[in-house]
Amino acid sequence: MTRLHINTPLIESLSINKELDANIWLKIEALQPCGSFKARGIGYACKKYITDGAKELISSSGGNAGLAVAYSGRRLGVPVTVVVPKTTKKRAIDLIELEGAEVIVIGENWDEAHLHAMELKKNNVAYIHPFDDPNIWEGHASIIDEISSAGITPDALVLSVGGGGLLCGVVKGMNRNNWKDVPILAVETKGADSLYAATLAKKHIGIDSINSIATSLGAKKVAKRAFELLNEHQIINHIVTDKDAINGCYRFLEDHRILVEPACGASLSAVYNGCDFLKDKQNVVVIVCGGVGVTMSQLEEWRQIVT
Ligand SMILES: *Cc1c(COP(=O)(O)O)cnc(C)c1O
Repeated sequence: MTRLHINTPLIESLSINKELDANIWLKIEALQPCGSFKARGIGYACKKYITDGAKELISSSGGNAGLAVAYSGRRLGVPVTVVVPKTTKKRAIDLIELEGAEVIVIGENWDEAHLHAMELKKNNVAYIHPFDDPNIWEGHASIIDEISSAGITPDALVLSVGGGGLLCGVVKGMNRNNWKDVPILAVETKGADSLYAATLAKKHIGIDSINSIATSLGAKKVAKRAFELLNEHQIINHIVTDKDAINGCYRFLEDHRILVEPACGASLSAVYNGCDFLKDKQNVVVIVCGGVGVTMSQLEEWRQIVT
């Protein structure tokens, strides 16, 4: 079966670690075909459902998840419908349509679009969740297989958390590569900190609303599995501001000439700002999760509103 993601570069960054003594390794998921690590898990899930008999795919994400479903459908030769709310940016719709998917704009918010998507879900149509599906985690786990086969075992790994699909996949990959003891710095922005809320409450609760420009981290409640992992793996919550996330994007652009979303800048800022947890570490891997929801002018607009 065709593999929909690529093996991404793992590079050592000399410019990013000025605040830390550690070697910093960057896993550049921004270079995946649809601009983020979503190509891995969503690609895997789409392939699985089609092998199992699905003839069409449906998504209700106007972000990187929806784009990954559109990309996977094109590669696998099946039709894709993406239902998005009226708040979705034109650029996101254009990118999804460029992959050949049909975009239906309906509803004032994501919940309404999602309900409509669910109505379209009939026999032979697979609904692809953005993060809460073991098949997605299985696909994301390949990130760790690749880092491990490159011969690197870090003493900390940094990633961003939205709904926690990436986190679930990374832990899955760690377990099968004997990395059970590698702690994970789970980075969220203030206002999209649903994992942190659940951590504090020691309950699988969510937050009432999303209040951050890092929209790819905007899941009101993390997957139940992500919550359970708090008791199974060493996961350290780390919250950054939108401003930190934007600065992370700018610094990374200057250092490595790659433009990423604030959802990704958030993780990078933890390293740039020499976050306490990383202070005594020797080898740190950062998942540079990427994201297509960013342009130079959009980044500049955000910079204006966060300062
Ligand atoms: C989806 C996404 C995230 C969050 O991933 P989850 O699996 O929802 O935790 C972070 N960054 C980018 C760029 C994304 O597309």
